[in-house]
Amino acid sequence: MKVHAEGDRITGLELAVGEMITAKHYVDASGHVGVLRRAMGVRSEGPTQLKNIAIWDYWEDAAWAKTVCHGGVRVRIMSVGYGWIWFIPISETRVSVGLVTHAEYYKQCGMKPAELYSKALAEEPFIASLMTNAKSEGKLASTKDWSFLAERAVGENWFLVGESAGFADPILAAGMTLAQVGGRELAHVLLALEAESHDAKWLRDWYGDIQRKRVGQHIRFADYWYSANAHFVELQAYTAEIAREAGLSLDPAEGFRWLATGGFISDDLSSPIIGSYQVNSAKKAMSAMTGVPVDPEINRYSELKLNLAGAAEVVVPECRAGKIEVVRCYQRDSKILPIHGIFRLVILALRNERETRRIFQFLQNEVAQGGYGESQSALTSCMDAIEGLLVDGWIVGKDVKGKARLNVVWDDESVRVSAADDPYVTAIHPG
Ligand SMILES: Cc1cc2nc3c(=O)[nH]c(=O)nc-3n(C[C@H](O)[C@H](O)[C@H](O)COP(=O)(O)OP(=O)(O)OC[C@H]3O[C@@H](n4cnc5c(N)ncnc54)[C@H](O)[C@@H]3O)c2cc1C
Repeated sequence: MKVHAEGDRITGLELAVGEMITAKHYVDASGHVGVLRRAMGVRSEGPTQLKNIAIWDYWEDAAWAKTVCHGGVRVRIMSVGYGWIWFIPISETRVSVGLVTHAEYYKQCGMKPAELYSKALAEEPFIASLMTNAKSEGKLASTKDWSFLAERAVGENWFLVGESAGFADPILAAGMTLAQVGGRELAHVLLALEAESHDAKWLRDWYGDIQRKRVGQHIRFADYWYSANAHFVELQAYTAEIAREAGLSLDPAEGFRWLATGGFISDDLSSPIIGSYQVNSAKKAMSAMTGVPVDPEINRYSELKLNLAGAAEVVVPECRAGKIEVVRCYQRDSKILPIHGIFRLVILALRNERETRRIFQFLQNEVAQGGYGESQSALTSCMDAIEGLLVDGWIVGKDVKGKARLNVVWDDESVRVSAADDPYVTAIHPG
């Protein structure tokens, strides 16, 4: 296929059979091939020091796939000294099992991919136990150098979506999420362009920026993840460098905590998400993967205060039910705080109360009145939001002598709050 263009404008796609296809908008959903990305001369950057390789195969009759995964899919990841293994059920009997390891380790170990793969699967006790009776399909595959970010994701009349705009690392299993979230946003943008409901440049710029930002966040997220694994020690210094770029002066351990407790909030405008992950899920996954406990920020303070110093008000598009809505946000450097949804409620609570226990009570009363969905999950989102805003500097905390701190504990889908020495808090929500 040949892409015809005048400047930054695509004028048609000429198929191999000679047929010319023209359209108003052109979308590149061709994955890492990046048909339009390459044709339009968009360069790619690799903003990471990760150099990993993956080796995988598909298996029939692995144990866990037939038991735990029955009726639903659950993914297991296990750390081995030189990398990690994924175990992804695809059907009730078929699983994808892969090894990701550092390219340097692969070079130095002197083994062929198949040898290294078998060694890793045999060495990890849980995976080995699952695979006892499993049969390989014998289609061992490998890949490397997958992290990249397109320098731009929009042109005059074309768009990159999904992996054509960039990819981070399989550690996050986020490829499909990124592709689908981007696809949804693009659908909204195209509908709005057709309806001429908003400024076209504003829509295009936002679309391009958010795709790049999200993939960039995932790349950084992956970097943190690996750097928090003792086996990737060479990334420790890089962790601090990433934090510095984000305007924070943190050592690697603090940088990890910053990310794991909600750094990078900016993805979803109505509820707290880190690069498309719920704050608490991300925290749990990172703790499980690395063995580093991630304690809640909120439990460190008895008072919280909103910090809007240096922030300006901006408007940002939000995709809602096929339409683009305009959402007001505070912006400081590259970070935004939406005055919307759960964030708006948290802002309101902080404007009304200062003590954490009173803030919690305010939020609890508000969500109980409805309008934010099921109240326990809304309250959990509020706590997630506070976590992220604390580490992103939108909220500053103080531990005032004589004032009680909360003890917030995240369960699967809810938060529990207790403070044994504080009858007031216990009365709010028995732990
Ligand atoms: C080792 C590894 C493990 C991964 N594990 C996971 C995981 O566990 N979970 C997860 O969500 N993601 C994972 N991913 C990422 C995931 O595979 C991709 O991010 C995702 O498939 C991207 O979706 P996409 O639709 O953008 O591109 P793709 O799925 O690549 O789809 C692009 C399509 O375009 C077609 N195409 C290409 N060129 C042309 C052309 N010239 N003409 C017509 N059609 C064309 C291709 O055939 C393909 O069908 C992993 C990636 C790697 C490298």
